[in-house]
Amino acid sequence: MLKLKNYINGELVEPIARQYISNYRPAVGVVYSLLPDSDEQDVELAVQAASNAFPAWAAMPAQKRGQLLLRLADLIDQHLDYLAEAEAIDTGKPLVLAKTMDIPRASSNMRFFGTAIQHFASEAHVTEGSAINYTVRHPHGVAGCISPWNLPLYLFTWKIAPALAAGNCVVAKPSEVTPMTAYLLSELCQEAGLPPGVLNIVHGYGHKVGAAIVTHPKIPVLSFTGGTTTGRTIAATAAPMFKKLSLELGGKNPNIVFADCDFDEAVATSVRAAFANQGQICLCGSRIFVERPLYQQFKAAFVEKVNAMVVGDPLKESTNQGAIVSEQHLQKVLSYIELAKTEGGTILTGGQQVQVPGRCAGGWFIAPTVIEGLSYNSRTNTEEIFGPVVTLTPFDTEEEVIGYANCTDYGLSATIWTQQLARAHRVAHQVHAGIVWVNTWLLRDLRTPFGGMKNSGIGREGGFEALRFFTEPQNVCVKL
Ligand code: NAD
Repeated sequence: MLKLKNYINGELVEPIARQYISNYRPAVGVVYSLLPDSDEQDVELAVQAASNAFPAWAAMPAQKRGQLLLRLADLIDQHLDYLAEAEAIDTGKPLVLAKTMDIPRASSNMRFFGTAIQHFASEAHVTEGSAINYTVRHPHGVAGCISPWNLPLYLFTWKIAPALAAGNCVVAKPSEVTPMTAYLLSELCQEAGLPPGVLNIVHGYGHKVGAAIVTHPKIPVLSFTGGTTTGRTIAATAAPMFKKLSLELGGKNPNIVFADCDFDEAVATSVRAAFANQGQICLCGSRIFVERPLYQQFKAAFVEKVNAMVVGDPLKESTNQGAIVSEQHLQKVLSYIELAKTEGGTILTGGQQVQVPGRCAGGWFIAPTVIEGLSYNSRTNTEEIFGPVVTLTPFDTEEEVIGYANCTDYGLSATIWTQQLARAHRVAHQVHAGIVWVNTWLLRDLRTPFGGMKNSGIGREGGFEALRFFTEPQNVCVKL
């Protein structure tokens, strides 16, 4: 069975304790590889390697660092099929999605930050005739990057690319649930000629490897994407150590449909926003609020489209809905469906586990599920489920739906469907969400600030925001 290795100081190495964790194939329900169950000793080696590599990496001209990231981007593109298949097998997501979204986005991240660093300028402030101030932005040293399982290579590269571009060396931990493409990336880093120690990838559990990264005194900056509960633990640990933190956490995103929307577009995109990656994207629109005059028509068209979705083998082209990432997560999602029933919800479609025949008989599948009849502030409507489960709720006024949208502790993203320009802006500005889409969903421009309000996180990533995060500003004042 394939044993994944850590990538430390440019080498693929076994964990010091020689312990391993089973890695499951969710669509089949069997163990298919082993990943290192690393601990603080492995993190220590990685931090040492990163610290040793830092002076030369930080001193390297930005253009040269950028070229290495572009080389990695090219290698990701050249291995698109191979990486997409590995991602689909490791996560259970449809191969088509991995091939068209996850892996292309990983190379875009590398390419974007490999070039952005060459356009990242310092500021200067002239103090009327008496002084000139200029701001130098220094890399921090060793950056810690911790990422989740839902978009493995996509989010892993979203962190390491700006950290490396800005001149930091990195100790990164992919999710133990989906470690495969980060491991394959370490092989590509070797091929790209990334200097040893610049990027180190330590596999293992969050409470061991993640915690060792968070508490390590030589890691002053941490970028974390994952659940809100984990984010809270990390924040509590890092705050007294005065670490710089970026936290990209959970969401429970409203999808607000006004009666004057472009109906076909709103229905089709709402289905995608609800169920892409089996609803396991932090940005999924899982609370759909529909203006009452359109409610019945929207419900009928929405449910019809959901019923036409094919749940099945992620490697088949006809599949729209793959497997849920783990048995534990499957049980969590099913428990929320039961909760919805006890809260008075009516299941319009789905609501149960699906048995896929043949090769995937042992896999973890759930039918895309649509529920109505729940209060806007029920637990089902306010807690993050992170699976293929959405609710439909009618509303009468703009004020009312803004209240519905804002009633959760989360504030990541929102979508608004309307043809009225003034209303689109008015509602967008009142919704508590770091990212608002009008008449679209998940249309991304990598230059824009990305992140959430309230319990969805602290800070913004993306574009120059990320390069600012991964650098320490220093003002130099020169008397004239
Ligand atoms: P998680 O919080 O369980 O794990 C995320 C990462 O943190 C993993 O690598 C895990 O091993 C590590 N970790 C766990 N405990 C840790 C600890 N004590 N110290 C340090 N690291 C620790 O999240 P998950 O289940 O992998 O991912 C799903 C969650 O991620 C959802 O809540 C989803 O909304 C969120 N998410 C947010 C965004 C965003 O951009 N806001 C994007 C994707 C996913």
